[in-house]
Amino acid sequence: MRPAPRDDVVAMEGYHSPQVDVDVRLNTNESPLGPPASFVAELTDAIAGVEWHRYPDRAARDLRAAIGSLHGRGHEQVFAANGSNEVLQSLCLAYGGPGRRAVTFEPTYALHGHIARVTGTEVVSAPRRDDFTLDLDVVRRTLESAQPTLTFLCSPNNPTGLVEPQEVVETVVEVATSLGSLVVVDEAYGQFAPWSAASLLDEELPLVVTRTYSKTWAMAAARLGYALAPTWVVDELEKVVLPYHLDAVTQLAGTLAVGHLAEMEARVAQLVEERGRLVAELAQLPVTVWPSGANFVLFRPDARAGDEVWKLLVERSVLVRNCASWPGLDDCLRVTIGTRDEDDAFLAALREILT
Ligand SMILES: *Cc1c(COP(=O)(O)O)cnc(C)c1O
Repeated sequence: MRPAPRDDVVAMEGYHSPQVDVDVRLNTNESPLGPPASFVAELTDAIAGVEWHRYPDRAARDLRAAIGSLHGRGHEQVFAANGSNEVLQSLCLAYGGPGRRAVTFEPTYALHGHIARVTGTEVVSAPRRDDFTLDLDVVRRTLESAQPTLTFLCSPNNPTGLVEPQEVVETVVEVATSLGSLVVVDEAYGQFAPWSAASLLDEELPLVVTRTYSKTWAMAAARLGYALAPTWVVDELEKVVLPYHLDAVTQLAGTLAVGHLAEMEARVAQLVEERGRLVAELAQLPVTVWPSGANFVLFRPDARAGDEVWKLLVERSVLVRNCASWPGLDDCLRVTIGTRDEDDAFLAALREILT
């Protein structure tokens, strides 16, 4: 007889994001360009000096100090892990778990709910308005009835691109504070947005902001993300994460990347400009486009099924994210901002399909 996994795990679906072999990959919001060549050279040199027979720095002190310097904070307010997904998992392990609840506002990043469930945390989801904004009355009612220990926001929100206004985040934090709930603002695309909830961080507030190297820093392959949080949160996260979870190379990569901030910021500016061009071009086609503060754009063909358009794009060797069957996102597709050439290939294929 095969041993049975947990009943709730048996009932779960895994996380799927198809890795299809196409010419133009605009489906996972990666940076269209690799990191600067000077960074790769520095990292290659540094790897030669790794003491392979020794465990890496368990506290990842250099890395956390480097990240802290980006945000004007000390290393003790930074928790780093293998992708922001591991950060989210650590938050769920420390603050969620059996008998506890996490709240999400849909549509949003599917992994918030998925990771919470994997850790045995019950997930309570409330809807956003049709325009994907948060109704603060719904937020208040949901938190009061669910009494969650974790409340997830995502700004800019994936997959809608919507940036949560500061007043909204402040109100959610205020309600959560009165209920003893920890608010997690996932800012995987924070650098593309006009403001950051990191500006609200305070030792006295139950607020955590998560970031990643996967998107803006052009380092999805490195698997590195982090939380900016009060020290009392960081202390608990350090308890639940596996010892030596961040390998020596990942730590070096993340530390050295911080020395290339100016190039990263130049790329962000370039992608934001390209986003403006792509949105303007999409507006000429029979699709609905939502305003985005991230490096992707959500759109819905006016008169064609999203699934069908997605398949026809794949046939033209263009891969976008198919959100057509996600709750609240009927027929929607999400396209990552690529290079000008990639975006032109996408636009040409879409024009051919729709007109
Ligand atoms: C891409 C993404 C992440 C990144 O996860 P990593 O594990 O750091 O690669 C986190 N949150 C959101 C909303 C994302 O879109």
